[in-house]
Amino acid sequence: MRGRQVWIAVVLAAAWGCSGPKETNQMQSLAEQYVKLVLAVGQHDADYVDAFYGPPEWRTAATKRPLAEIDAEAADMAAKLAAVPSDGSDPLVGLRHRYLTRQLEALRARVAMLGGKKLTFDEESKALYDAVAPHHDATEFESVLAQLEKQLPGPGALLDRYTRFRDAFVIPPARLGATFKAAIDACRSRTLAHVTLPPGESFTVEYVTNKSWAGYNWYQGNYRSLIQVNTDLPIFVDRAVDLACHEGYPGHHVYNALLEKTLVRDRGWPEFQIYPLFSPQSLIAEGTANFGIDVAFPPADRLKLEREVIFPAAGLDPNRSEQYYAVMALVDRLSYAGNEAARRYIDGEIDGAGAVKWLERYGLYSTVRAQQRLRFIDQYRSYVINYNLGKDMVARYIDARAGGDESKRWPPFTELLSSPRLPSGLAVGGK
Ligand SMILES: [Zn+2]
Repeated sequence: MRGRQVWIAVVLAAAWGCSGPKETNQMQSLAEQYVKLVLAVGQHDADYVDAFYGPPEWRTAATKRPLAEIDAEAADMAAKLAAVPSDGSDPLVGLRHRYLTRQLEALRARVAMLGGKKLTFDEESKALYDAVAPHHDATEFESVLAQLEKQLPGPGALLDRYTRFRDAFVIPPARLGATFKAAIDACRSRTLAHVTLPPGESFTVEYVTNKSWAGYNWYQGNYRSLIQVNTDLPIFVDRAVDLACHEGYPGHHVYNALLEKTLVRDRGWPEFQIYPLFSPQSLIAEGTANFGIDVAFPPADRLKLEREVIFPAAGLDPNRSEQYYAVMALVDRLSYAGNEAARRYIDGEIDGAGAVKWLERYGLYSTVRAQQRLRFIDQYRSYVINYNLGKDMVARYIDARAGGDESKRWPPFTELLSSPRLPSGLAVGGK
């Protein structure tokens, strides 16, 4: 481990110290300044720095500076960044410049919020994540609920019928480890068939409680992740492959490892050693992690894996997998109901109890899961859009490049995971 760190330091020093053109050196010093500014914001906001694997002394040197001082430095840095010329010969350099500019704008927005500035849900998501989620009214969800009524007939409320139906697909706690292992093995081997991963990459899985999220990837650098799975509530069988792909392969773990390989080590760009959670990078991270599930296992492949591997590992009847996934595909279409609950709640149109009711009624969340979701919204606010809008934006971007052919998704997907593209750059004609 020690030898490897020394080796990285030598490579980075060589890359940063190279006598390249003036703008390269200027970009390097601005990028380093950005990393230190992110660390400074982290002194005010415990959730802000999601990952940092740069020089440890940069973190230990970060003292708590006044927000106004951080913002003034960020404004000065933005002006210098705007003045850095670009000859446009290397597309990745162009992406880097736009990315750093936009990440810095998001940093300033977060600093303003920490200073008490109030933004609407849409203003906040635009400022922090470079995107605004479409608005939906209740009638759009009601048509999906009507289809679910047909799938799950019987007396009583639909939510109760759905909850009872789904309860039969909980992974027994004693089988959690084996089921996740089977899912991780499948996701990893499927990913390895299409993506060259850096040697030595790996992650460890931990089971935790008392969290607002279901799973979390804490990237450590050196191609290692710590993945935590929350066991506060029973875990349904679909979560095994979802979490293994989303947090691991080809999701967050692969994304972080490829950024480290292609941008930090190969290019020597220091700004990718830090990941500020409330920034445009999160839409790309969550969007690729969620769409990565479909890239690795399109619906027919997914069903085969569930029937032959995952359901048996969880001790569930494989003959019920098809019905389960037909219901879950419909429920997935209610995901934007979660955004609506968050938007109305953050904008003060409904209170916490109203948000729980909305999630139950239109998102088919059970009461305890709606309460857990409300805690997530309290902690992460408009971050919720990164999952479903992020997935849809990434899907459109990748499928346009794959010509709608599921088997051709891997090359553009891998390229996206290895480059600093912004959410606004995913739009058709975007940069
Ligand atoms: Zn995630």
